[in-house]
Amino acid sequence: MSELSATATFVLLAVTAAFAAFAAYWYLRFERVLPLERQLRRLGEKAEGLRRFSIRKSREAKTLVDVAATVTHDRQTQSALGAVVAIIARYLEADMVAFLLADEATGELVVQPGAYGLASEELLYRVPLTDEASSSVRVFKNGESFLAGDAQNDPGTIARYARLWKIHSLMTVPIATESRTLGVLRVGSFKRDFFKKEHLDLLSVIAGETAVIVETAVLNRKLSRTAEQLGALNRMKDDFVSLVSHEFKTPLTTIMGFITVMLDGDTGELTDQQRKFLNVTKTAVKRLEYLVTELLDLSKLEAGAHMELRPLNLADLLRASVERQRGGAEIAGKTIICELPEAVPWAMGDERWLTLVVDNLLSNAVKFTRPGGRVNASLADKGDFVMVCVADDGLGIPAEDREHIFEKFYRARNAAQGGAGTGLGLAIARDIVLKHGGKIWFESETGKGTKFCFVVSTSRQREAVL
Ligand code: ADP
Repeated sequence: MSELSATATFVLLAVTAAFAAFAAYWYLRFERVLPLERQLRRLGEKAEGLRRFSIRKSREAKTLVDVAATVTHDRQTQSALGAVVAIIARYLEADMVAFLLADEATGELVVQPGAYGLASEELLYRVPLTDEASSSVRVFKNGESFLAGDAQNDPGTIARYARLWKIHSLMTVPIATESRTLGVLRVGSFKRDFFKKEHLDLLSVIAGETAVIVETAVLNRKLSRTAEQLGALNRMKDDFVSLVSHEFKTPLTTIMGFITVMLDGDTGELTDQQRKFLNVTKTAVKRLEYLVTELLDLSKLEAGAHMELRPLNLADLLRASVERQRGGAEIAGKTIICELPEAVPWAMGDERWLTLVVDNLLSNAVKFTRPGGRVNASLADKGDFVMVCVADDGLGIPAEDREHIFEKFYRARNAAQGGAGTGLGLAIARDIVLKHGGKIWFESETGKGTKFCFVVSTSRQREAVL
C-alpha cells in the first residue's frame, strides 16, 4: 500500500511539475518571448524601410548629381535639355518626359526638341496659354506642381491628350528662375498611380536645377530670331546698295562725258566762269563715281566674289600703283618713295582685287600726309608670305579710332583734315586680303604717321623678280 501511495505521490508530483513547466513555458512565451519577437520583427521592418529609403535617396542624389553635371558642362543648351530628359526618364522609369517652354511671340507652351516618348509629329504639340483646361497651363500660371494618378479620367487634365499618349500617371512642375516662370516639365507613365509625392518633390528640385539652361535656351532662341531678322535686313540693304549703285553708274558716265566734251571746247568757247563751274562739277562727279565704284566693289565682295588666285608679280603691281599716284602727290607737295628689294618671290593673288588694296593704301597715305610729307611703299620676302607696306609721316590715327578703322563707313575723327572720303576703302581692302587667306594690319602714332602692311601667300613657283 505504501508502495502504491509512493507511486501516486510521485505521479502527482510529476504531473504538477509538468504542469508548472507548461505554465511557465506559456507564461514566458506570452509575456516575454512574443513581445520580444514582435519588437524584433518591427525592428527588421524598420531596417528594411531604412535600407530602401537610403537606396532611394542615393539614387535621387545620383540623379541630381547627373542633372547638375549636365547643366554645368553641356554648353549646347538644346542637347543639355535632351540629356536631362534622358536622366529623368531613366530614374523615374517614365514613359514620357517633355519640357514645354513659353513662346512669348505666339503665347503658347511649346514642346521642346529632345522630348522622350513622343512621336515626331507630337513634338509639334503646343498649347495656348489661354487654355486653362490644360494642367500644364495652370502649373505655368500658378506655379504649383500637379500630380494625377489617372490623367485619362481626371477632370484637371485634357483627357484627349492623355489618351493620345496612353498616359495614366502624370506629374507637371513649373520651371522658374527667381524673376519669372519659363515653362513646365511634364512626366508621364503608362501605369496608374505610378508616381508618388516623393517623385514630385524630386522633379521639382530637378526643374529648379535646369532653370538656368532653360533660360539660356530661351535667350538663344530670341538671339537667333533677331540674327535672322538682321540677316534679312542686311540682305535687303545689300540688294538696295547694289541696285542704286548700278542705276547711278550710267547717268554719271553720261554727265562726265558731256562735261569733258564741254571742257575740251567741243561745244564752243567757254567763259572763265563757265570753265570754273564745270571743273567744280567734274570734281563732284568724280567723287560720286568713286563712291559708286566702292559701293559696287563692296557689294560684290559681300555677295561672295571669288578671288582668281594666280602667280602675281607684286613688285610690278606696287610700282604701277605708285606711278599712277605720283603726279597727284607731287602737285600736293608730297613725295612717294618706292623701295623694292633685289629679288622677291611672286605672290598668289588676284591682280584686279589686290590692285584695289594697294591703290587704297597708297591714296590714303598721300591723302593723310601734310604737304612736304613722305610716303614710303615697300615689299619684303617673308618666306611663305610676301609683305607689302605703305608708311607715311602724316596725321596718324587717333587711339580711340584704331579698333574701328576697318569697319564699313568708319572715318577717324581727324579724317576731315585729309579731305573727303567714304570710309569704305579699308573695309574693302581687309575683305580682299582675308579672301586671299592673308592678313592686314597697321601701326600708327597720332601726329607722327601710320604704316599699313598686308601679307599674301608666296607662289609655289617662287619666281624671283628684280
Ligand atoms: P576714306 O579714306 O575714304 O575715308 P578708308 O576706309 O580708306 O576711307 O579709311 C578709313 C579711315 O581710316 C580714314 O577716313 C582715316 O580716318 C583713316 N586712315 C586710313 N589710312 C590712313 C592713314 N594713312 N593715315 C591716317 N589715317 C588713315
